[in-house]
Amino acid sequence: MLNLHLVEFVRSAVKTADFPNDNLPQIAFAGKSNVGKSSVLNCVLQRKNFARVGQKPGKTVHINYFRVDGKAHFVDLPGYGYAQVAESEKERWDKLMEAYFAEPEPIALGVMIVDARHAPTKLDCVMADLFRSTGRPFLVVANKLDKLKAREIEPNLACIRETLRLGEQTPLLPFSAEKGTGREALVRAIFKDCGLPFS
Ligand code: GDP
Repeated sequence: MLNLHLVEFVRSAVKTADFPNDNLPQIAFAGKSNVGKSSVLNCVLQRKNFARVGQKPGKTVHINYFRVDGKAHFVDLPGYGYAQVAESEKERWDKLMEAYFAEPEPIALGVMIVDARHAPTKLDCVMADLFRSTGRPFLVVANKLDKLKAREIEPNLACIRETLRLGEQTPLLPFSAEKGTGREALVRAIFKDCGLPFS
């Protein structure tokens, strides 16, 4: 069992030497700035502001590690795609992600968050390719579902699936961090890929 209520902040990493080497399975969360990555993490953990919501976009080129129940790490990868970011910060993002994905072994599951309202961006496609390159399972969360009209849901999901070239084995979960929609499906997927039973 993995008790999602037992969660502690471990550290912020800015380079390989900061990465934990305790071999715990990692659930890696990625998404463009402002997509609601912190909100999705808080929704899964049922916390209000554990991962900080509404941080100034583009100011967070570090990887935050949270240990859950001493058995797994939730890894909050730095957001991307914020237009106002300096070139040096983009380079820092590239280098840090390259370092993180150089060692895919601990990644039990990649969780990529996109905006349910929009077609994925070029950088979203880069991110999907990074997850694919690990050979590890990953899934895509289409967040902010509450902002869609019912008739927009299916075509938007089809567009996301096609743009990110998701294979049949890659789940696409409609989600609203605001309403809690899709939480159960995401939690089940996380437990499954950690090899831990659902509680
Ligand atoms: P991050 O930069 O990806 O970590 O995004 P945040 O979690 O800080 O969220 C960015 C903004 O989107 C905040 O104003 C959130 O309240 C809002 N937000 C996040 N998830 C949802 C959602 O599912 N629905 C709606 N309507 N707003 C959301």
